[in-house]
Amino acid sequence: MAGVKNERGASCACGSLTVKTNGEPVDVYLCSCLKCQRGTGSAFSYAALFSDSAVTITGERRQYADRGDSGRAIESSFCPTCGTAVAFLAEGLPGMIGVPVGCFAGPNFAKPSKLFWASRRHHWLDLPADIAKIDTQ
Ligand SMILES: [Zn+2]
Ligand SMILES: [Zn+2]
Repeated sequence: MAGVKNERGASCACGSLTVKTNGEPVDVYLCSCLKCQRGTGSAFSYAALFSDSAVTITGERRQYADRGDSGRAIESSFCPTCGTAVAFLAEGLPGMIGVPVGCFAGPNFAKPSKLFWASRRHHWLDLPADIAKIDTQ
């Protein structure tokens, strides 16, 4: 819990691309679609959505445009040095910026409310009952 406006800082692995957020996220979710699995190298993505006016991105970055398993466009901003994506825009989420929660490096970050693409989650992944499992998106 930092600052009067609940300001938080996220960054890429090497620290040269940073994101500042003000206030609490609008939503926090997991997604185990296959694009998220490839994009993160992990079993699911863990992302927080903020209003775009609450987010400031600083540092050199490149964009990668793709489509999620839903078919909707997603554009990620990543650090050209270490390759970490620190923010994304999604066609299905107008006016929002997503920030991968791991980039905050804060284990007390808000719990996700739901898992998208639960139908594609790894077979061993059991989640707490209060995280909604949504088969697609
Ligand atoms: Zn970096
Ligand atoms: Zn996904």
